[in-house]
Amino acid sequence: MNIYDFTLNELENYLVSNGFKKFNATQIIEWMYEKGVYDFNKMTNLSKNLISFLCEKFYFGHLEIIEVEKSNLANKYLLELNDHNKIECVLMNHDYGYSLCISSQVGCNMGCAFCESGRLKKVRDLTLSELVLQIITVEKYEKKRITSVVVMGIGEPFDNYNNIKRFIEVVTNNKMIGIGQRHLTISTCGLVPKIYEFADLETGVNLAVSLHAPNNAIRDKIMKINHAYKIEDIMKALDYYIEKTNRRVTIEYIMLDGINDSEECARELSRLVKDKLMYVNIIPYNETSHFELKRSNDFKIKRFYDILKMNNVNVTIRKEMGSNLSAACGQLRANVEGSGK
Ligand code: SAH
Repeated sequence: MNIYDFTLNELENYLVSNGFKKFNATQIIEWMYEKGVYDFNKMTNLSKNLISFLCEKFYFGHLEIIEVEKSNLANKYLLELNDHNKIECVLMNHDYGYSLCISSQVGCNMGCAFCESGRLKKVRDLTLSELVLQIITVEKYEKKRITSVVVMGIGEPFDNYNNIKRFIEVVTNNKMIGIGQRHLTISTCGLVPKIYEFADLETGVNLAVSLHAPNNAIRDKIMKINHAYKIEDIMKALDYYIEKTNRRVTIEYIMLDGINDSEECARELSRLVKDKLMYVNIIPYNETSHFELKRSNDFKIKRFYDILKMNNVNVTIRKEMGSNLSAACGQLRANVEGSGK
């Protein structure tokens, strides 16, 4: 078994059920995460008996970096999994530190009309170790400490909910990755039942929702998931989330030329979110050669922003860090796997 597939709790239970002590799990975790020791034989405070048990049962998994695209603000990595599937993650250099955008699945089944990730259907969910090792692999490669993580790469994290829940445990555990809850963000296209479950976890982890349209007529056209969960269902779930956690929700809004970028759309969006603990992050669309869709021009983006502002909505325009890389979500993998077709 890959040791990175265990949360602390799971490792404790596994060791205890095999006759070892609960605190042995913490000892192992400290060797791995604090001291960077990846050889059970070098974990000198463990008994011989435990070491041979661990050697027999576990290995230290890793991910292979097979391609890196670099720019001054962001680096993009193509990673290969043990079964040769490929995923990608992006390291962004912010003034407050390094932030890593990770993938949650191989491909995606949500089928959004503008997104490269969904052009290649979901092959499978990522395991806990594959989620965690994206962080560890990039940290080791760059010899840099990652201070925040966003789950906004390939895949729909709430379609891999159980592993994302375990991933949150590993990332936020001080003895393990040790990134604070408030420095972790999960982005979903709006799987409503999972928003409720996530709210009930009552963590301080940030939630972002890809809304991209102010009404169902437009959203139906660009996001298949809207046939299952309507905007009002999402808003109701977010009200519940905010009530439970008192955390501000990010509403993501891609600007697509002639589709969702009119002044009326901006007013409609304002009515939807104003007076709620939400803020809108306007995302200039990153065009790809596979879709007809175009990015709204800067003037329209600014106008949209101004209308939200005038309506007292908290709003920012996302700084573009990777548009010169194949950094549209899923693009690097799609270029390799889909051979551009
Ligand atoms: N499935 C999740 C997380 C992955 S997508 C979600 O839908 O939120 C992360 C974000 O990138 C989403 O807001 C998605 O709509 C957006 N996105 C996808 N393709 C894009 C592109 N070409 N340009 C800009 N944003 C894009």
